[in-house]
Amino acid sequence: MVENAAMAELEQRRILKTAIPGPRSLELMARKAGAVARGIGTTMPVFAVEAGGGVVVDVDGNSLIDFGSGIAVTTIGNSAPRVVAAVRDQVELFTHTCFMITPYEGYVAVAEQLNELTPGDHEKRSVLFNSGAEAVENTVKIARAYTKKQAVVAFDHAYHGRTNLAMALTAKNMPYKHGFGPFAPEVYRAPMSYPYRDDKLMDGEVAAHRATDLIDKQVGAGNLAAVIIEPIQGEGGFVVPADGFLPALADWCRANEVVFIADEIQTGFARTGAMFACELFDVVPDLIATAKGIAGGLPLAAVTGRAEIMNAAHVGGLGGTYGGNPVACAAALAAMETIKAENLVARAAEIERIMLGRLHRIQAEDNRIGDVRGRGAMIAVELVHQDSTDPDPGFTTAAATAAREKGVIVLTCGTYGNVLRFLPPLTISDELLNEGLDVLAEVFSTKASMCSPKSSQQHDPSCQRR
Ligand SMILES: *Cc1c(COP(=O)(O)O)cnc(C)c1O
Repeated sequence: MVENAAMAELEQRRILKTAIPGPRSLELMARKAGAVARGIGTTMPVFAVEAGGGVVVDVDGNSLIDFGSGIAVTTIGNSAPRVVAAVRDQVELFTHTCFMITPYEGYVAVAEQLNELTPGDHEKRSVLFNSGAEAVENTVKIARAYTKKQAVVAFDHAYHGRTNLAMALTAKNMPYKHGFGPFAPEVYRAPMSYPYRDDKLMDGEVAAHRATDLIDKQVGAGNLAAVIIEPIQGEGGFVVPADGFLPALADWCRANEVVFIADEIQTGFARTGAMFACELFDVVPDLIATAKGIAGGLPLAAVTGRAEIMNAAHVGGLGGTYGGNPVACAAALAAMETIKAENLVARAAEIERIMLGRLHRIQAEDNRIGDVRGRGAMIAVELVHQDSTDPDPGFTTAAATAAREKGVIVLTCGTYGNVLRFLPPLTISDELLNEGLDVLAEVFSTKASMCSPKSSQQHDPSCQRR
């Protein structure tokens, strides 16, 4: 282990010194409202001052259990020691030259690492960007340059980012797209494999056929440059497709000269108990977009893929001023080293065992938990009205708020807003992980105080008194 004085001091405990949010956070929230555009929402109105291991410390001295990792970014822990050291060293040498003006080794080293670590042993090339959305946009540019075709297929419940083409690929209107059109053309949507909501007889191959049949009829493989999919969907609800779905889709793409793109921006870098989620389903994508967990919190994104596809774009056709910034590259190399040295892929699988075990036990006593799913440290519960599969976003919001008030950072997601998702850093201790789960168990056991308006009227008898 690399020693880090700051982290050693950061107590790995949930500590509540004030109400959540505390007075200093409330003051800062007021300043935020006066200075920051309203469009930037706030999941949890507490301002951070320090974070590491499995906790985030706020301005009021509260220490919160981190089940969010800044949306699956600080997978190796916040201010991970190797990342801190590598960033410090690089910042002192130079902070920017622009890789397109005078290149530097760090960028090449990151590309080499990505070519080696991503699924498939074919010849690969990589290119670096700043954000996930930018990587997604570039997968489409590259696929179009290679195939000389234009159409792109994305899936129900998909999330691919907030730039114009990425919004077009994203399924959900509110909050991502509403009022922001017109969107990029030649984007089509296919049905996803969603085992909890699909017909029970629909296995992965049947679900893939449902999608490819629609693509054949409505788009035509002759017009289709690429199919883009998250192997496990993120914002759309942590939807894990049925076995056989992704391989059948990839086979269809290969047979039809369509580029198969995996968006592993949320699932990549050990998050799911594999280095990349594609490995869990035995698929090798032609192109893979990565970001979030790639650099321990510094902004970096990448597209990696088959050399002949990646090299189809003309010289000067790809790039950007900051893409592959040297500080972010140093952080990425340190992050990848940390994943290997600390065996974090196996740690994610361990976290899966602990979380699924506990959540299934909570589910056994609570029929508002319709589904428990996920892989590695990417786990979710889908909440529904009692004895039905009707989504219950009201209860979901109430449960998330209750957990946050008790000092656990939890996020929600899902097309219907009814999924609680858990993305702890892989450096969280078993103790803190279990304490966070204790808080969730507590939240679910206090039923009457947590009824959504809909359930109070229609479904949940325990809510009638409200
Ligand atoms: C977060 C995310 C994106 C967008 O990444 P940004 O860095 O926010 O632009 C794209 N795809 C998936 C699957 C994501 O989770």
